[in-house]
Amino acid sequence: MSDKPEKFIDENGLRLDGRRIDEIRPMKMEIGVLSRADGSCYLEWGKNKVLAAVYGPRELHPRRLQKADSVLIRYRYNMAAFSVEDRIRPGPSRRSTEISKVSREAFEPVVLTHLYPGAVIDVFAEVLQADAGTRTAAINAASVALADAGIPMKGLVSACAVGKVDGKLVLDLNKPEDNYGDADIPMAMTSDGEITLIQMDGDVTQEEFKQAIEMCKEGCRQIMEIQKETLRNKFTKLDEVDISDDEEDVDVSALVESTLESAEDDDIEDKESDSDEEEDATPESSEEDEDIDVDESHSDFEAVELVEDFEESFTDVDEEEDVSDGEDDEEKD
Ligand code: UDP
Repeated sequence: MSDKPEKFIDENGLRLDGRRIDEIRPMKMEIGVLSRADGSCYLEWGKNKVLAAVYGPRELHPRRLQKADSVLIRYRYNMAAFSVEDRIRPGPSRRSTEISKVSREAFEPVVLTHLYPGAVIDVFAEVLQADAGTRTAAINAASVALADAGIPMKGLVSACAVGKVDGKLVLDLNKPEDNYGDADIPMAMTSDGEITLIQMDGDVTQEEFKQAIEMCKEGCRQIMEIQKETLRNKFTKLDEVDISDDEEDVDVSALVESTLESAEDDDIEDKESDSDEEEDATPESSEEDEDIDVDESHSDFEAVELVEDFEESFTDVDEEEDVSDGEDDEEKD
């Protein structure tokens, strides 16, 4: 590990990597990079490289883990052994378990979990190269991968950290700032500015904490633009493509051609009324109905969500300046 720098911010207000204090590292994303996943995204953010894959919704086994009234989201954050300077021991650690938990919780408020009772959505975030901010990088990639998988969500989630070095708040910490700074506050939020993850390491004053949230909102707003652009690029292209026998194009047609009527078919109440003989709500008692619903409804739902929700959330971007207040009372970790 390199030594602690004497100064993190120079006389021109620039950081060690040449960024301004409120500037995020360059970010690029590629969507649909894994053919066997339902949704995927590869993200590079500064020197971070992260791959996110989403599988599902699909029936959860063993059935005793099923939730009667909602889908189960599982999120696994993992750092590859070769992703850091000193090799990491493969397998789960306290750190990765904690990050997986808080990241899963960051998505729970936005995923429409009630639509797929008894099912599971698996999110895998693999850090291939780490350079500070990997949990937030993983959330940004996972958010796009979930959208790519057609998972119905209220909107995207974006994440970024704010820290403190040389007595100043800085957006999107680089490695030395993360290692030697006075604070590290990773956050994730929706396009409405609702905070779905906030952690804090180090010390800041109450006033600085409020400023950090505002700074992070601006960072997340920029990240959400990139996420939406990534999705828009894929789905606009898909919109223009003719239906062909190519496997990907078949998906495209499902996405583009489905109508709102088919959305109603997927409605949760319809699903329940399908299972006439269902007497209690335990997953075990409605195994067959759920088997069918989870699988068959997926592709239609993708279409509806893409047509409706993404368009809606694209409009949100423009209205997002007013990322609202009102979450200043968020919990600190
Ligand atoms: N890191 C490392 N080994 C570890 C954990 C972390 O080298 O076992 C590095 C890695 O570059 C990571 C950074 O330290 O990005 C900051 O880690 P932190 O736990 O703050 O999480 P992150 O900022 O990546 O979300």
